[in-house]
Amino acid sequence: MSTNDLLLSPFTLPNGTELKNRILMAPMTTCTGFYDGTVTRELVEYYRARAGSIGTVIVECCFVDDRGLAFPGAIGIDNDAKIDGLAKIAAAVKSQGSKAVLQIYHGGRMSEPKLIGGQQPVAPSALAAPRDGAATPVALTAGEVEDMITKFGEGVRRAIEAGFDGVEIHGANTYLIQQFFSPNSNQRDDKWGGSRENRARFPLAVLDITHEMAKKYADSSFIIGYRFSPEELEEPGIRFADTLYLLEQLAARGLDYLHFSLGYSLRPSIVDTTDPTPLIDKYVAMRSDTLAKIPVMGVGGIVNKSDAELALEHGYDMVAIGKACIAYPDWTDRIAADHKLELFIDSTQREALTIPEPLWRFSLVDAMIRDMSMSSKKFKAGVFREKVQDPAHELAVNVSLDTDRIADIALDAGADLDVEFTTSFDIIRSRILDANSPHFDAVTGATEQSEAVKKAVSKAIAKSCKAQLLEEGGSLNAPQSYDVVVVGSGGAGLAAAIQACDEGAKVLIVEKMSTIGGNTIKASVGMNAAETRYQRLKGIEDSKDLFYQETLKGGQFKNNTVLLKEFIEHAPRAVEWLADHHIELSDITITGGMSVDRTHRPADRSAVGGFLISGLVKNLNKRNIDVMLDTSVTEIRYSNGAVQGVQLLNDDNDVLTINAKSVIVATGGFSANREMVVKYRPELDGFVTTNHKGATGSGIAILQNIGAGTVDMGEIQIHPTVEQTTSYLISEAIRGGGAILVSQAGKRFFNEMETRDKVSANIIALPEKFAYVVFDEQVRLNNKAADEYIAKGFVISGSSPRDLAAKLEMNSDTFLATLESYNVAVDKQDDAEFGRKTALRHPINQGPFYAIRIAPGVHHTMGGVTINTDTCVLDAQQQVLGGAFAAGEVVGGIHGGNRIGGNAVADIIIFGILAGQNAAKFAMR
Ligand code: ADP
Repeated sequence: MSTNDLLLSPFTLPNGTELKNRILMAPMTTCTGFYDGTVTRELVEYYRARAGSIGTVIVECCFVDDRGLAFPGAIGIDNDAKIDGLAKIAAAVKSQGSKAVLQIYHGGRMSEPKLIGGQQPVAPSALAAPRDGAATPVALTAGEVEDMITKFGEGVRRAIEAGFDGVEIHGANTYLIQQFFSPNSNQRDDKWGGSRENRARFPLAVLDITHEMAKKYADSSFIIGYRFSPEELEEPGIRFADTLYLLEQLAARGLDYLHFSLGYSLRPSIVDTTDPTPLIDKYVAMRSDTLAKIPVMGVGGIVNKSDAELALEHGYDMVAIGKACIAYPDWTDRIAADHKLELFIDSTQREALTIPEPLWRFSLVDAMIRDMSMSSKKFKAGVFREKVQDPAHELAVNVSLDTDRIADIALDAGADLDVEFTTSFDIIRSRILDANSPHFDAVTGATEQSEAVKKAVSKAIAKSCKAQLLEEGGSLNAPQSYDVVVVGSGGAGLAAAIQACDEGAKVLIVEKMSTIGGNTIKASVGMNAAETRYQRLKGIEDSKDLFYQETLKGGQFKNNTVLLKEFIEHAPRAVEWLADHHIELSDITITGGMSVDRTHRPADRSAVGGFLISGLVKNLNKRNIDVMLDTSVTEIRYSNGAVQGVQLLNDDNDVLTINAKSVIVATGGFSANREMVVKYRPELDGFVTTNHKGATGSGIAILQNIGAGTVDMGEIQIHPTVEQTTSYLISEAIRGGGAILVSQAGKRFFNEMETRDKVSANIIALPEKFAYVVFDEQVRLNNKAADEYIAKGFVISGSSPRDLAAKLEMNSDTFLATLESYNVAVDKQDDAEFGRKTALRHPINQGPFYAIRIAPGVHHTMGGVTINTDTCVLDAQQQVLGGAFAAGEVVGGIHGGNRIGGNAVADIIIFGILAGQNAAKFAMR
């Protein structure tokens, strides 16, 4: 049989189960589970789309214990409640005719505290993983090791109940099972550690219990696989001979396959780098007859049929396909038809390929995405040298451009580089090249460097476009013309630009900062709307009228009621507009001043701002909308009662003129302009602000220059819960999730769910002028933001209330009494003492207990320019300024004397869409 026939013809495993071919989908992290590790609908569809012609789908690893998550969005099999969701995946895969195998694991010391509620990870020994910032784990006691084996067994039982055809024990990638076998991570002196024989005990025990469970609950067709990493680099560490020893032991107990975990299936040793022999060749030569009976599967770098055939020629019996299965859900059909495949994904194809949003943003996939949006841009080919400046470095980067794409970027060889920068530069470089755009999601942990490189690449592109224009006989001084200019790239500006473009207008966005996103990117809690589809799905009863009344009350009845009615009316449509643009806010929570859950947020309960901006930018890129960064609008050109265009100033101090019939000002508020804040509210001198540096109110001044009226300028909101050393906002979602506020005296002092103005005033009235947001494990589990605060080091935690009180230097008896009386109020759903009516979610009684020290900070400026319901800017006499539109925080009146949490995001999207619609119509009438 040729290897081609071999690959596609049936293959029988040692237990007699027949696979229809030798191709398996490799288990790959998708980060698409719910916050609690249950299965999402997207995940089911992702696997369904990839099943069919492929023989077997190995579903991504499931943690067997809730301390075992090794990455965000991981799915779990740690309790029976998870079975239903997993059963949906198994059924989806099997319905297409493929076998469904589930991988099970525990991250051990590779779990980060922020993923497991700030707890310390567990491991064979209390030794941190050899990587920066790794937490030191707690060593499992002998009893806990036995419990862990039981947990693996329970995982197997659940996999069987969920209908899987088999399990793959994840003994690789330095997770817990490998940690037991490794002399590096296992330095125990009981029967689980020490000699190689002892270290092999745990992996063998996991296999034993897997067999036991399979015997008890499944039939003999149940597949049992084992994945292993053949070597470790560390000294001491697992060597290939050790691996062979372990595999022989596993094989003797019976296995249906072994899965060689390598980045590249034909990789040689990483320890002995002088030996180029692929490890699979050595394995085939060295294995015993018993081991030779166990089929072995290769993975890594298999994209085309020839790669798979080569792997089989080297001795693999089966191949697992990773990234190629993400890019080509029908990979097996394609290679059967002899297609030649390239490993990239067209940026417009996410839905068509059924790739869940979190996976789309995962670096593995991100690196395969090619942005198709820049293909119409024309560059002058050449190398453009630009300065890259982050707080720690000043370097040069050479940006090579082809006529239609970014060909390469390289740091200047002579520059003063440090290792940290070069490492993140490599990731940044590949993201920019794959996206073919400087607008990519920043690299985690290297945000400032990402922004600096983005800026340099944007500048190089601008220079090259200029050069191309000149070459084509154009003139730089000749003003460019657009239908609509949008000033500001926060949520309001982006929504407006997208809508205007969809109405057929030619749109330009001008942003004075180096990055897109404005203050919106910092938004945490969500978007309010009443009578939405998502509320209906969750059975939440709400009405637009109630939303209106509560917003009006929260705004101290100072709101512009005409605008407010427009806001309330359009809110559910705006939620749908976002969903239509693949920005789904399907989870719902509550904020202060509201009586109903109506704050819409991402399904994984993460902060809304980053999610929103990332989604809007993808829409922007798809539409090819021009963006000028580092460029301020200094003036709106206005004459004869109509907008003529804008004047710009870029950071090379060039003054540029743009012609346009409509201008949408979406420049945000002025919380970061201390002079302006103090001018209107002297008592706020010295307050920190939660806002980004660009929130200076320049749009108000620009519009005032052409005669715009303003309203409510003195209405400035201070947010009650701001971490003062970093000015970081502690989201209202934490209180909405069940947290309370406690003073240094250990007492609650006010209804935490009151509006922001009142809560702030009561904190300032405390003698110490600060307070603590206090919550427990239950609140943390339901709010992703809490883990972020833990990771940022804001959170003080204690195993018991007394322990926490001691750490806060608080009278512990008073604190205990406070918790006790709050818990009684929760039980009764009646907070007689402070009148809290909402978010009495659960008693605060499950350790660990947490506290964050906070005080108020300047957060939102409710005042701004006057507009009508068509978002037209009005002058002091309420007359329309022709062609001038405004949306978002730059506008005054909607929120009255106090903005409700969740209403800013609603405001920017609702009025952003309206402004886009109206400005486009006006320009093209
Ligand atoms: P909103 O929430 O109303 O959308 P944001 O604060 O999120 O407002 O965004 C406003 C954006 O406008 C910010 O990115 C800010 O840097 C930008 N901006 C402010 N003034 C100007 C200006 N004069 N020219 C260009 N951009 C501006």
